[in-house]
Amino acid sequence: MASPMMKKLDGSLDEVDLTDLASALEGDLLLPDSEGYDEARSLWNAMIDRRPAAIVECQSAQDAARAVRLAGERGLLLSVCGAGHNIAGNAVCDGGLMISFKKMRGAEVDAAARTVRVQPGATLGDLDAATQAHGLAVPTGINSTTGVAGLTLGGGFGWLSRKYGMTIDNLLSAEVVLASGEVVQASADSNADLFWGLRGGGGNFGVVTSFEFQAHPVGPEILSGLIVHPFADARAVLRAYRDLMADAPDEVTVWVVMRKAPPLPFLPEEVHGTEVLVLAAMYAGDMADGEEALAPLRAVGHPIADVVGPHPFAGWQQAFDPLLAPGERNYWKTHDFAALSDDLIDTVLDYVRRLPDPQSEVFFGQLGGAQGRVPDDATAYQGRKSAFVMNVHGRWSDAGQDDACITWCRDLFGATAPFATGEAYVNFMTGEEADRLEAAYGDSYQRLVELKDRYDPRNLFRMNQNIPPTAAR
Ligand SMILES: Cc1cc2nc3c(=O)[nH]c(=O)nc-3n(C[C@H](O)[C@H](O)[C@H](O)COP(=O)(O)OP(=O)(O)OC[C@H]3O[C@@H](n4cnc5c(N)ncnc54)[C@H](O)[C@@H]3O)c2cc1C
Repeated sequence: MASPMMKKLDGSLDEVDLTDLASALEGDLLLPDSEGYDEARSLWNAMIDRRPAAIVECQSAQDAARAVRLAGERGLLLSVCGAGHNIAGNAVCDGGLMISFKKMRGAEVDAAARTVRVQPGATLGDLDAATQAHGLAVPTGINSTTGVAGLTLGGGFGWLSRKYGMTIDNLLSAEVVLASGEVVQASADSNADLFWGLRGGGGNFGVVTSFEFQAHPVGPEILSGLIVHPFADARAVLRAYRDLMADAPDEVTVWVVMRKAPPLPFLPEEVHGTEVLVLAAMYAGDMADGEEALAPLRAVGHPIADVVGPHPFAGWQQAFDPLLAPGERNYWKTHDFAALSDDLIDTVLDYVRRLPDPQSEVFFGQLGGAQGRVPDDATAYQGRKSAFVMNVHGRWSDAGQDDACITWCRDLFGATAPFATGEAYVNFMTGEEADRLEAAYGDSYQRLVELKDRYDPRNLFRMNQNIPPTAAR
């Protein structure tokens, strides 16, 4: 139900625009003094504090199309918010129009076809809840409050992508609002060029109002859990991890987290608050096969704790949620690596000894497997040959620590740059890394520019990891 509003905006929207838009919407139009405005503009990363002139809280694809048309006609800055998790904060703009999908979180499963249609405000948790009710899952990321929309448009990988491919490799079709306001379908058979660009090219080409995915039988219980090592052994454990993962089957995925130990119930109290190295492991298959496959890794060193065992898949997807809750200050830096060399390991460990805040951490995500076997030119995402992704995750509460934490992240990023491939995961990049984007997209970049010229030559969709059209260069 649209609320009537008769106020003048600071930008180029006038009273008539607002009244017309509000009365046409199925959802709500929020202005700065509307109830719900602050909640709608708030993002996961508390460092982002922007105030759009108006927020369209969509209830349908047509709501998004109306907002897109109006922004195009009036030349407004336009931002698009899925679940609001992205580190860069491009989901919210200052002074322009914000499209919010936070009220569109549905996921509808076709159990027989093993497919699922997902609305653009759904979180990974929403998707898991719907699919797991049928014993199915779509490969996504490792934190359940992340949005399906942004994650998919950047690529998407987590516990299932070595077995079943990335999120984009399981995308069957998308419904998209183009810059003209026209609503089209994109799939392998329909607007195939657009479909290629949506799979890694971010929100550069349109507003996605529905995603259709292939799902796979998973769980409901899977072998998973944490193996926590004392930091004194980190070097030896990381080297052993690297060597073992070189031959790991696709079902095995192990990420490494280096941080100060949180007060987890299975860790002795004296360990809390000290640096540890955590191996987070999952086996996407038969439980007994998993026990066998993970045994060599579990035999490494002398862990403080090993809680690998059968866990509900949906619960494992939430395992890191408490450490990644919204509302803290966050700054990230990322690299892709083809290998974890001894020197790289030593460099990272040197920085982990000097974490700027107990909430900050560094992780290595394990890539490869099915994700790495998709041809480079099949999707806009690049990085298929990378074996590991690093995320330097600066995280803290107090704005007074901004400088110290950001400097630590940038220094670690700089020190590890000589070991990196140059390609990078756009979903882990901040808002200040436009100069990295061409390298991050590697061989895809020129094709993405051509697609941008075709679908958005005026760069209406520019609040993103932006690929400027030729005319805007
Ligand atoms: C705690 C945490 C854990 C993460 N873990 C993983 C992980 O394991 N694996 C992984 O792959 N990624 C991971 N990510 C990164 C994540 O994929 C990105 O942050 C992603 O952009 C989040 O999607 P969102 O919809 O919540 O973001 P939003 O901030 O809402 O959107 C991000 C951008 O995407 C675009 N966009 C969003 N919705 C639409 C739409 N419907 N149509 C067009 N454009 C749109 C816009 O440009 C927007 O600025 C993680 C992020 C966080 C914060």
